[in-house]
Amino acid sequence: MGAQISIQRDVLRGNEEWAKRNRTFLKERGTYAMNLMSSPGAGKTSLLERLIPDLSAHIKVGVIEGDLCTTLDAERIAKLGIQAVQINTHGACHLDARMVHDALQSFTDHTVDLVFIENVGNLVCPADFYLGEHHRIAMLSVTEGADKVEKYPNVFTYADALIVSKIDLLPYVNFDEQSFEMEARRLNPNASLFRISAVTGEGIDEWIRWILGIVREFKNERGSNSM
Ligand code: MG
Ligand code: ZN
Repeated sequence: MGAQISIQRDVLRGNEEWAKRNRTFLKERGTYAMNLMSSPGAGKTSLLERLIPDLSAHIKVGVIEGDLCTTLDAERIAKLGIQAVQINTHGACHLDARMVHDALQSFTDHTVDLVFIENVGNLVCPADFYLGEHHRIAMLSVTEGADKVEKYPNVFTYADALIVSKIDLLPYVNFDEQSFEMEARRLNPNASLFRISAVTGEGIDEWIRWILGIVREFKNERGSNSM
């Protein structure tokens, strides 16, 4: 038991070192990073597909896709004409900072303003692995049920923004928005909350404004504090 605990600590410490390197690398390039987390099928890639064409009118976006296998999601994103790098974890159920480090190196475009890191679909351990990102976004689709916030609290507690996705399906499912919001606020009172549908586009504009505000602030700070 003792040995197991210390191995886990070593893994996390090693991860922390790579995450710091990622953070330095991102700072040098002037790239803001958002780590997008949810269970499989909550609609992370669909949301990015809906978002990126509008966002790209204002800033340059790149995407790192994390999945166990296949390059399907990176291919979907690349169709939008932006740079997408696929990480295959080959069994690992989360991204770690070393994987993201390698993916960042393979970005040939050095002028990306914002990189989305779409984590492996999983509500559990992605929360434990800091990737060097500036912002964490936790998403829950209405088809999963509002109780998942209470059941898998870490991913929602340590997020900067919480998104409820697939809200176009609300009339057909039993998703208690009030209890979601209460539990989300109890765990994480400072997170920004968004309701989004990638199908109808509801909530997308508001989220884009929020993203642009954050990236501009980052760029301004960097401008005045650099060197
Ligand atoms: Mg995906
Ligand atoms: Zn994992």
